[in-house]
Amino acid sequence: MPNNRRSSGHPQLPTAQTQVLDPVADLAGPEPPTDPELIRTELVRLLTGLRAGQAASIGFPAATDLNLQVLAPFLDLLLNNLGDPWVDGAYPQHTKRLEREAVDRIADLLRAPTCDRWGYVTSGASEGAEHALWLARTRHPDAVVYYSAARHHSIPHVLDRLRMPAVEIRTDPTGVIDYRDLATQIGRRRHQPTVIVANIGTAMTEAVDDIRQITSLLDNLAVTRRWIHADAALSGIPLALLDPDSRPGFDFADGADSIIVSGHKFLGSPIPYGVLVVRDQLRPYGHRASTYTGSPDTTLSNSRSGLAALICWYTLHRHGTAGLRERADQARETTEYACQRLQAIGIPAWRHPWAFTVNLPTPPAEILDKWTLATDGPASHLICMPGVTRQQIDALVRDFEALSVTVIGPARPPKQRRNRLSLPILG
Ligand SMILES: *Cc1c(COP(=O)(O)O)cnc(C)c1O
Repeated sequence: MPNNRRSSGHPQLPTAQTQVLDPVADLAGPEPPTDPELIRTELVRLLTGLRAGQAASIGFPAATDLNLQVLAPFLDLLLNNLGDPWVDGAYPQHTKRLEREAVDRIADLLRAPTCDRWGYVTSGASEGAEHALWLARTRHPDAVVYYSAARHHSIPHVLDRLRMPAVEIRTDPTGVIDYRDLATQIGRRRHQPTVIVANIGTAMTEAVDDIRQITSLLDNLAVTRRWIHADAALSGIPLALLDPDSRPGFDFADGADSIIVSGHKFLGSPIPYGVLVVRDQLRPYGHRASTYTGSPDTTLSNSRSGLAALICWYTLHRHGTAGLRERADQARETTEYACQRLQAIGIPAWRHPWAFTVNLPTPPAEILDKWTLATDGPASHLICMPGVTRQQIDALVRDFEALSVTVIGPARPPKQRRNRLSLPILG
């Protein structure tokens, strides 16, 4: 059964997404499929269910303003960006020229040094973290890794696979790393190299660990053997579109050595992917000769999606930097709107100023049954990604208003104590 329950009473999505697949036309090829009816039924059922669920799915950070019909012809080609993006190699069916352009554009947005950058299109942020942390471990084999309790679950997972010792640091009530705890913990092990995984947009509250503060803290402790990886899956691109002086530090100019952003979050994509950018001179790759593929084996995966790289390139060009900024600004306006609407009916919703995430106490089951929010115990959130409309927010607010009992807790946006270090030697 398609998920009709979720569709009822919800606003339709913008028209680009409601175009109906014509399975008959799609199945009419030179070789008729063995069971056209079965294929048609399954495809229609799947598509109907997916579309019906989309309007109520506001808990996960996936932009929904997609329009990639122009790339449809490429679905009938195998696009394999085998090996390193910067060496085309022997396999001819790839999109590496556009991958290089896309990585470069993103590296520009992340203020990577022009003569000291490398990167590639990964399968997602988790692969990016694994590759970056493997590079960090290769450079500093006896490093200790620090990350906050608000890290993505993939980070401890990756560190376990890489067998890197790690220390988890406290966060403040809004999800930002506790700099004091970080300084204390690093101070205890300053004879060992330090790797930090900074959350640039945590999964729950979209908190950002300020890399300028982290860099100062490391300077202050005289830790020179170090690597800062920015897990910027969600927030990397939207933060990069803000004035650097009015947002937390997170990019290469602020001190990062490697940064991963996801493609299927802010940029928007029908398939998951990520873009990893690292400082080229930190890579240990002298020995990676090409094999029969003709392209050095410098990535974590071997065969890589040329379609993902193409989608990335196309999306960056389709919007342009100004268009991306407008999408981010508009999403932040919707976020602020959602916060205010929820606060107006007594729900203590709050957001970080740069964020698309609206945090709220976990609503009752009536709401959660109908709306896909992301919930972790007492805390829940919705995310106003590009594609989320005010009509969707209005519908959610109406559902809150219709609750028979108000089960929402007391109004208490997190009390902020001071979470910064005053570092005497630093300017
Ligand atoms: C989504 C997310 C990830 C995982 O990213 P994928 O691209 O889905 O693998 C990692 N870290 C953070 C902070 C995220 O928000």
